[in-house]
Amino acid sequence: MKISLFILLGTTVVQFIIALFSGSVALLADTIHNFSDSLTAVPLWVAFVLGRRVATRRYTYGYGRAEDLAGLFIIAVVAISAVVAAWQSIDRFFNPQPLHNLWWVAAAGVIGFIGNEAVAIYRIRVGQKIGSAALVADGVHARIDGFTSLAVVVGAFGVMLGFPLADPIVGLLISAAIIVLLWGTVRSIGQRLMDGIEPELVDRTQSALEHTPGVLSVSKLQLRWVGHRLQGAATVVVADTALSHAESVAHEAEHQLVHYLPNLDDFAIRTVTTAEDLKPHSHDG
Ligand SMILES: [Zn+2]
Repeated sequence: MKISLFILLGTTVVQFIIALFSGSVALLADTIHNFSDSLTAVPLWVAFVLGRRVATRRYTYGYGRAEDLAGLFIIAVVAISAVVAAWQSIDRFFNPQPLHNLWWVAAAGVIGFIGNEAVAIYRIRVGQKIGSAALVADGVHARIDGFTSLAVVVGAFGVMLGFPLADPIVGLLISAAIIVLLWGTVRSIGQRLMDGIEPELVDRTQSALEHTPGVLSVSKLQLRWVGHRLQGAATVVVADTALSHAESVAHEAEHQLVHYLPNLDDFAIRTVTTAEDLKPHSHDG
């Protein structure tokens, strides 16, 4: 995680310096994109610092949601920076300016490509090793960003060949790419703030509960992310037996879940007997 952050930040600093003295808006847009990608490490950092705090009498569920709030802050920063990059590119169509040091601009694009590809290889390798689909997806994102940086090289060569509009055109395309990627982030953070969960995780939890000896069926199941930890609750139907037996079934079910869901923090299990389950009670679908 830290290695990826330092590679991306280093790439961003080099690109930013070259963007300043060359006047290339395409490179500026790519720099803003790479910088906002390094910012995505901030929610993880917030989670690391705040998420370890114990719950208090005021924040009885702990501080996990601080991660999602940090995500909202990043969305705002990235949205503003994308608008700035797009505005600079559009302005350049009407007020063309000569570019300097085009070979440096091309070199900065190549540096952006190498930096992103290095991060992509690292994330995909580690993601496949530890079986994290999210990390592999981050790696694929970095690989796409590498090709975005190559667009800067194409733009620089276009200007060299006597087509000065190539630079703002590439700048606009990269700004559009930032907005498209940002929309994905808006959706996933919005989903978490709405207590949305991946249905596969619910399926896995349900099958873990159903495979616990003594559990006849699952009548209610809830899961939600609080930061990058899971919380949930379930009502399971057990055979009509002594209370102590029902308790041991619930205990065993909890034990099963910890194996199926490594991120699970807290899971409340309520047991009802077959007779109780037959009584009319409210369902939420
Ligand atoms: Zn990106």
